[in-house]
Amino acid sequence: MSVKFTCPGCGAHRLEEIMVNVTVASEIISVGEGDIEYGEQSNEDGVVDRYQCMGCGYILSDISDSEALYDFLQGSSRRIELDAYNIVIEIEGNGGTITSDLHESCPYCDQIHCVNDCDQSQYDSTQETEEDACKRGQFNAAMDGIESFVLAQACAGVDITTPAFICALETAFESCANRYS
Ligand SMILES: [Zn+2]
Ligand SMILES: [Zn+2]
Repeated sequence: MSVKFTCPGCGAHRLEEIMVNVTVASEIISVGEGDIEYGEQSNEDGVVDRYQCMGCGYILSDISDSEALYDFLQGSSRRIELDAYNIVIEIEGNGGTITSDLHESCPYCDQIHCVNDCDQSQYDSTQETEEDACKRGQFNAAMDGIESFVLAQACAGVDITTPAFICALETAFESCANRYS
């Protein structure tokens, strides 16, 4: 299975290997006055100096062979799914995205970030009063924080699938839910 490179610096996908101490042999086709025309070239020896992004020159530090490169790329691009709150995290490079069921959406328009914004919520308060909508807005802001924190933990290499982590997540969720309801 091959793995894709995504530059943590610029998001480009083209990666290059830079070798040093290479011996280059070039066939000479013709020699003119101060000018040589070359034919085929072959490279010998040399060691990998670094792997870097062809777009911005971002260097993958501490990676000097194909095995380490594979491990890095595989580790840097992965998907984590949790049963808890339907959390799905996609990690690429040093960053990533998270989606979850943590937030509560507007009962009228089903949008998470609607707080009395949609037309129906403005004239109808049977499903949610204005005050409840404000509380929901605060609750959702807290959920934004929890999502960011979980994503940051995953990106930093913390195993967020452990029972201990999920238990902590549930505790944080419950305390936010109690506070903003
Ligand atoms: Zn780059
Ligand atoms: Zn709405």
